[in-house]
Amino acid sequence: MQKNSVPGFTLTNRQTAELIHVNPASLELIVEELAANETPLGTEKSEIVNVTACPGTDRCKFAQIDSISLALALDKKHFGKEMPVKSRIAISACPNSCMSERLNEIGITGVVRPFRVPGTCTGCGTCVHYCKEHAIRIRNGALVMDDNACVHCGMCINCCPFHIIKSDPPAYHITVGGRRGRHPKVGHHFVTVKSPETVDLCIEKIVYWIYRRAWGDVLLPDQLDDIGFETFREDVVKTLPQDEIITGY
Ligand code: SF4
Ligand code: SF4
Ligand code: SF4
Repeated sequence: MQKNSVPGFTLTNRQTAELIHVNPASLELIVEELAANETPLGTEKSEIVNVTACPGTDRCKFAQIDSISLALALDKKHFGKEMPVKSRIAISACPNSCMSERLNEIGITGVVRPFRVPGTCTGCGTCVHYCKEHAIRIRNGALVMDDNACVHCGMCINCCPFHIIKSDPPAYHITVGGRRGRHPKVGHHFVTVKSPETVDLCIEKIVYWIYRRAWGDVLLPDQLDDIGFETFREDVVKTLPQDEIITGY
């Protein structure tokens, strides 16, 4: 690892910048200068902390969604909002989950569902080789997909030399109630939707629900049942544009 060339400055694993060894007498001045520079102070309290995202379609060949634009839009809207519990939002542009988004209070994952189109499958096995989940088999010289084993990464779609595997446009898989730390938990699936606009609508409702229903002292994942997560989820999903919802993920 390269040694930090700016003494006193570090980057954290939540994609924030940290200034260390600051003289307390200079704090006020630093805060003023950061404000003038339009750089908000971070937050570690019971608030919405900065939204984190993987590089997405900008830089990663595995990406299914533009995670950076989505993160910037959500961060602009929600960062620093006072909450009863610390609330983190993270986005991974594919199920490789480099941001461990499902271990955050709110997680968003870019997903895609492959399907076979008419045409001659030669049974060459290229797609079998690319699928790390063993979700594709060759039977009687042609491919067979196992929807239960598929994690919707999309790796098989571009590898077929005969273009036999296609997909609908990528979708956004949203989870709620994950956490890292000593006792990690994977968030519960909330809904999978087609567009960033519907993600925005959904996150707004989830944030408002946490704000209204959660209480302090207990981490959100530990109070989901008590504050009626399932009922809330069903109520919200009903209010979303139904043609935006994708089932079966
Ligand atoms: S989560 Fe997927 S798209 Fe994002 S950086 Fe990792 S591999 Fe790339
Ligand atoms: S989308 Fe990913 S997991 Fe699903 S079949 Fe294709 S390669 Fe396998
Ligand atoms: S779907 Fe394409 S890559 Fe897979 S076995 Fe058939 S021809 Fe080969």
